[in-house]
Amino acid sequence: ETEPGQGIVDRALTAALHVIEASEAELGRLDAVAADGDHGLGMTRGIRAAVAAARRDGDSPSTALLAAGTAFADAAGGASGALYGVLLAETGAGIQGRSGDEVTAEVLADAVDGAVAAFVELGKAEPGEKTMLDAIEPFRLALRAQAEAGADVPQAWQKAAQVAVSAAEATADLLPAKGRAARLAQRSKGHPDPGATSFALLVTAVGQALGK
Ligand code: ADP
Ligand code: MG
Ligand code: MG
Repeated sequence: ETEPGQGIVDRALTAALHVIEASEAELGRLDAVAADGDHGLGMTRGIRAAVAAARRDGDSPSTALLAAGTAFADAAGGASGALYGVLLAETGAGIQGRSGDEVTAEVLADAVDGAVAAFVELGKAEPGEKTMLDAIEPFRLALRAQAEAGADVPQAWQKAAQVAVSAAEATADLLPAKGRAARLAQRSKGHPDPGATSFALLVTAVGQALGK
């Protein structure tokens, strides 16, 4: 439950934790279709650690996200753990020093641009290879478009999250070319990518928290 004194990052990640916990088994099932089945477990471990770190070190949104990213990567393990860790930490780094306490939609869109660039640098995925990137990139572009159209942070994020949900569903038609699932690619046909699915769940929960 949220408390009045909680920071925005803490509230957003706590909302994400509830949704990911409720989806842990489903994410594991999706990951077991063509890979090792640990994505749900990794996600709950990662977000739990991220929430704890954001509470401990969350003097500002940027420091909270930096701490959350490091904690997520350490606790979650796996390919997605390192990748989510970079996304969180680099979003924090992008916000840092930009506008004090005021994170506008434009600041956030710029920070997400930087975070996605770092994510691609680490994972080397390309669009269409059936990874998280196939939800993340449409999300990034939608957030940018919303910011340019003058949307506020909750509006911009919620619209981008809707785009991520559709994009994650659409990964069912793709064949995995990166990560563990690439070896048994055919099996994954008709099932959405686990990482794209967790990303869509996560940003949807964050959008709801931002709107409160
Ligand atoms: P692991 O494959 O190490 O068990 P997870 O099961 O937690 O890790 O995460 C699997 C997800 O990670 C995939 O569904 C995919 O979205 C994402 N992923 C794996 N490798 C990459 C990569 N190189 N770039 C982007 N995303 C990746
Ligand atoms: Mg796995
Ligand atoms: Mg694994």
